[in-house]
Amino acid sequence: MSHLEVFLPDEAATGRLARRLAPHLKPGDVIALRGGLGAGKTTFARALISALNGSDTDVPSPTYTLVQTYDTPGLTVFHFDLYRLDDPDEVMELGWDETMDGLALIEWPDKAGDHLPQWRLDLTLEQTVDGRTARLEAFGEDWQARLHGI
Ligand code: ADP
Ligand code: MG
Repeated sequence: MSHLEVFLPDEAATGRLARRLAPHLKPGDVIALRGGLGAGKTTFARALISALNGSDTDVPSPTYTLVQTYDTPGLTVFHFDLYRLDDPDEVMELGWDETMDGLALIEWPDKAGDHLPQWRLDLTLEQTVDGRTARLEAFGEDWQARLHGI
């Protein structure tokens, strides 16, 4: 399976999707979070980090920093918001290559240009009249196989 679509009527549904995905994640994973402003990318990232922490602990959002690091049991999470990035090469100053050993959650992934890993999960959120749709798309055999079990 290479893609999966889920309707998210509210934030609780976003949390459920995050808890569904969390057990399948491992070091080296890259999740590109796509969708316009207000689509719910940050909401999803925070829900995923909470799910990995196994609690409802409050996750501060990376408002002024391009990357925020979270230590969760067994997995270090690097949450990028590249909206303000001017040049793709600037990701190197954020320790890009090292962060790819953890779990990378990347908002505005296209800002990274060619540095965006090819093998990844794309999660595209879209605002609808009654909530959000989430489309998960697997790139590479590993993600394609895993998407089956999600
Ligand atoms: P982005 O990071 O994509 O710009 P945010 O996550 O910061 O978006 O903001 C999304 C807004 O939409 C928040 O106000 C959040 O409460 C709301 N929201 C998030 N997910 C859902 C959902 N599934 N249904 C309805 N509203 C949602
Ligand atoms: Mg955001």
